[in-house]
Amino acid sequence: MAYSPNHTSTPYKGAIALCSRGELGLIMSDGPVPVTYNKCNNCYAAYASGADSDCTCERGIAWTGIHIGPEKLGQPWSSRAPVVLEPASNAFRRIQDHYLSTKQKVEYDGWGLH
Ligand SMILES: [Zn+2]
Repeated sequence: MAYSPNHTSTPYKGAIALCSRGELGLIMSDGPVPVTYNKCNNCYAAYASGADSDCTCERGIAWTGIHIGPEKLGQPWSSRAPVVLEPASNAFRRIQDHYLSTKQKVEYDGWGLH
């Protein structure tokens, strides 16, 4: 079953969304928050030494969460203008239904599926 992106949806915590790179994320922030896109290591070196830096990192405001695509699963994810796909609860419900519908076929040692 395919799910069409709804480009008009306002982002919200708990939504599965695409960032501008087309990578899947789970939005975890309550709203857009200040973020830094690391572009240099000068700022870290300067912070450590107390020196001035010529930091070229980009700062902005974005929704944040975690990557849920398999390649970057669990890594930090952010998007200034996420494209909402669906509530994560819908996707997790499909996973739950998939596994629990097979419970009569599954037997875990010491585990019962109720
Ligand atoms: Zn920097």
